[in-house]
Parts: sequence; structure tokens; C-alpha cells
Amino acid sequence: MATIAFIGLGNMGGPMAINLVKAGHQVCVFDLSATAVNQVVEQGATTATKASDCVDGADFIISMLPAGKHVDAVYLAEETGLINYIAAGSIVIDSSTIDTATSQKVAKALAVKGIEFVDAPVSGGVGGAVAGTLSFMVGGSTGEFDRVQPVLSAMGKNIFHAGDHGAGQVAKVCNNMLLSVLMVGTSEALQLGIANGLDPKVLSNIMSKSSGSNWTLDVYNPCPDVMEGVPSSNDYQGGFMVDLMAKDLGLAMETALMSQSSTPMGALARSLYAMHAASGEGSKDFSSIFKLFNKE
Ligand code: NAD
Repeated sequence: MATIAFIGLGNMGGPMAINLVKAGHQVCVFDLSATAVNQVVEQGATTATKASDCVDGADFIISMLPAGKHVDAVYLAEETGLINYIAAGSIVIDSSTIDTATSQKVAKALAVKGIEFVDAPVSGGVGGAVAGTLSFMVGGSTGEFDRVQPVLSAMGKNIFHAGDHGAGQVAKVCNNMLLSVLMVGTSEALQLGIANGLDPKVLSNIMSKSSGSNWTLDVYNPCPDVMEGVPSSNDYQGGFMVDLMAKDLGLAMETALMSQSSTPMGALARSLYAMHAASGEGSKDFSSIFKLFNKE
């Protein structure tokens, strides 16, 4: 069993760390929120007053932080950066969804100190984090991928090697850009049907067994009361926040600019999610974009 330090215990990181504890790993956790720390400590993790104390003696250091600036600061800040405390020969797994450039910058800086790194963003949401069924998209060398696989398998079901450092982040933004486009398309199609007298349950059933079938329609339906147990049937609470989707679409646009790629659907989805977030819906689940097309 491995000795692991886990930094960032939010909606995703908390349950991921708990699954590592349940798998028998020795886990030291740290977050700025004491409440978040306590929830994982109650399940058998240890903690420390500083993140730097947690990484002392850890073979694996996992982070699950909001954005690139947090990852940059946690690892590379001049005096407090974990780069100053992680032992050579250890490996860092950053599962946050962040910009590829920051991922590669952190990987490079750690390598100078003899510390390995993979970017390993996830898909599967809070439900997948709790159930231990996340998909991991890993960027790193083959050796690094082989090394992290046993640890990731305690938190996920599908573990993919996307390519070298940063490739996990590219795979993640491609996936989330497509997800947002599907969610917007599903929402406008359902609202079109409703505006023309169709029952959304009947229409969802027809489309999910026809060529319009897709994940946002079939398992994460955005129309309230079509499906049980999804955010749309719970006032769009929980799930994957609009603010985070807007962030991921910003990352997709940055990635497109770097490679001079055309992403017209992604660009439109980014604007729609930015508008939706600005209208005060930022903390709602991303399926709440459905309300944008409401005619009533
Ligand atoms: P969150 O905001 O719930 O959690 C982030 C945690 O990081 C918070 O508990 C915060 O206190 C902590 N934190 C911030 N700065 C810190 C620091 N310097 N030291 C220690 N802790 C610090 O976010 P989340 O929903 O858990 O998402 C985390 C990452 O996973 C994001 O990059 C997000 O895009 C990605 N993601 C989220 C989902 C989802 O469904 N929520 C799905 C896939 C990927």
C-alpha cells in the first residue's frame, strides 16, 4: 500500500481521498477548509497543519484544485511551494482540470528536482468520485503512467494514457467542449418540442432511441422531472457547476488558439455558458442551461 498526500478536498477531492483510504492506502490530507479536512479524517485519513508536512514521506502526491493558478501556487510558490518539500523519486498526480501550459510548467520544474509528474484530469462528476468509477486521462511518460495506475484504480474505472505531459488536459477539454455542445443542443431540442406541445418525457424517449441519442439526453436529462436522481430534478443542485464548465470552455478556447483550430460550436457554447453564469446561475449544475431556452 502507498503513502499518499492529498491536497484539495472539495466536491471531487473529498470522495476521491476517501476511496484511497478505503483501499487501504496511508493518506495524509490537506485543504484550506477545516470542514473539508474533517470529513476525510473521519474516514481514517491523517492530516497536518501545513500541506508541506503532509507531503513529507509521501510516495504519491495528489492534487484536486480549482484552476491553474492554484496548482501553480501550491507546487511552485517561492517559499511555501511543495516543490521545496517533496522528496526526489516521488510522483505528483495533478487531477485538477487546468491549462496545459501550467501542467507542463509544473512537470518541468519538478523534473529538475527528480520528481515525476502526471496530469490526470477526470471525468465522471461527483457521482463518479463517490462511487470510485471516474475516468482518468493521464499525460506523462509510459513509466509514469504505469507507476500511477494502481493508485488511480482505487478512484476510477477507466484509466487512459492520453500521451505525454499535458495530453491529459487536452483530452479533458476536448471531452468537456463536446459535452457542453451536446447539453446545449439537447436543451434547445427539448424546449422546441415543449413549445410545440410535446411531453418532454415522450420526446426524450423518442430521441434517446433515435439518432439524437446522447449522454446528456439519456442519463443526465436537463429537463426537470423527466428523470430521477439527476440535478435537473433537484433544482439543478449538485453535479457539475456552470462556473466550472465556463472555465473548461475557456481552456478549450485557449487550446484552440494555440493550435489555430476552428471550434465554432465550442465558441458558441462558451459564450452561452458565460452568459448563463453572468445571469447568476454560476453555482447551478451545467444542465441548467436548459432554462436559457425557456419560452414561458
Ligand atoms: P471545489 O471547489 O469543490 O474544490 C476545490 C478545493 O480546493 C476546495 O476545497 C478548496 O478549499 C481547495 N483549495 C483551493 N486552494 C487550495 C490550497 N492552496 N491548498 C489546499 N486546498 C486548496 O472543486 P471540485 O468540484 O472538487 O473540482 C476540482 C477540480 O476538478 C476542478 O479543476 C474541476 O474543474 C475539476 N472537475 C470537477 C468536476 C465536478 O463535477 N465537480 C468534474 C470533473 C473535474
